[in-house]
Amino acid sequence: MKPIYLDYAATTPVDKSALSAARPYMNSVFFNPSSMHSLGRKAYAAVEKARQKVARAINAAPENIIFTSCGTEAIQQAMLCFPYGEKKKVIVSAIEHDSVTSCANAIIKRGMTVEKVMPTPGGIITAEALKRVIDQNTALVCVMTVNNQTGAVQPIKELAEISHSYGAAFFTDAVQAVCTQNLDVTQTNVDMLAASAHKFYSLKGCGFLYRKNAVKLDPLMLGGRQEYGLRAGTENVPSIVAMGEAIERAVQFRREYIEHVSAVEKAFFGALTVGEKVFVENGTDGISSVVFDGVNGGRLAIALSMSGVCCSVGSACSSGSATPPPTLVAMGVKSPECAVRFSFGKSTTTDEAVRAAHIVNLTVDKLKKNG
Ligand code: PLP
Repeated sequence: MKPIYLDYAATTPVDKSALSAARPYMNSVFFNPSSMHSLGRKAYAAVEKARQKVARAINAAPENIIFTSCGTEAIQQAMLCFPYGEKKKVIVSAIEHDSVTSCANAIIKRGMTVEKVMPTPGGIITAEALKRVIDQNTALVCVMTVNNQTGAVQPIKELAEISHSYGAAFFTDAVQAVCTQNLDVTQTNVDMLAASAHKFYSLKGCGFLYRKNAVKLDPLMLGGRQEYGLRAGTENVPSIVAMGEAIERAVQFRREYIEHVSAVEKAFFGALTVGEKVFVENGTDGISSVVFDGVNGGRLAIALSMSGVCCSVGSACSSGSATPPPTLVAMGVKSPECAVRFSFGKSTTTDEAVRAAHIVNLTVDKLKKNG
């Protein structure tokens, strides 16, 4: 039987429309957007049209969008190329993805201070928690929009406002947020926002960074003048075109998407008789962690994979590791090493969700019996 995929937070399949939009740019319109000739101009026009679509999706101006090779790269551009100036402190939430915490470690090596802001037991970074660590020496505050482990939606607008009141810039990793959240940057007033195409039904190897005009970043890649001189290298035209199409659809069909993932997730948890869902104060639909006390999460994920259910124990990038997810540790979740993440998407059916839950019930019982 075909495995049941419950790992949409790791990656999503490419939408048909995104794929067809990309196809011509792989062969018939394969040209380099930097070429001055008429054929190169066609590729350039496609990249700029995609930039407009991405910008529209977050209510930004096209010139504030920089295309990158993935979410991780957009995060590096935001955090490592930020003009820190005289201020020597960066605040990073304790529930960030590895791509953000690794940048924080690199910032420490530069001789700066990084302070962590802790979540509530319900997985939220509150205004009060931020106020406890922020001061006038803070240059940048980094808090993600949707947590990749629990689906917790963070109060980005409020946190950005507090950051600004201390003269700090605010950056949000919105990699897990595009399908379910309104990312209007004029409403949230974030200074920078990172996203990744393969998390919203487009091709891998593509992402973007939004940055306000006032944020004068240094280049991440040196060479040509692509991407306003911030990211040298020939653009990945097919993936950029696909991303423009996919983000437009994500915004257009957001309500239907939420209704669907919420229904299949409900069906899954309705049929699940084992484990305890990690409590989240303000969760988005489609991403949940469940603790199966007494059963190691990594061991369970492997057993589930062998029984036909594909889920994960952490973020995709660290799914091979045996360490418990830092987000759950920071939240004070009991037995975080026994957690497994289930994430649902467009093509998950109710039947699949229920079948998967039955398989989880049986597998957990079996592992518990076998010790
Ligand atoms: N940020 C979050 C919250 C993620 O979940 C991921 C990937 O799982 C990333 C960043 C990295 O994105 P990418 O795989 O596009 O580099």
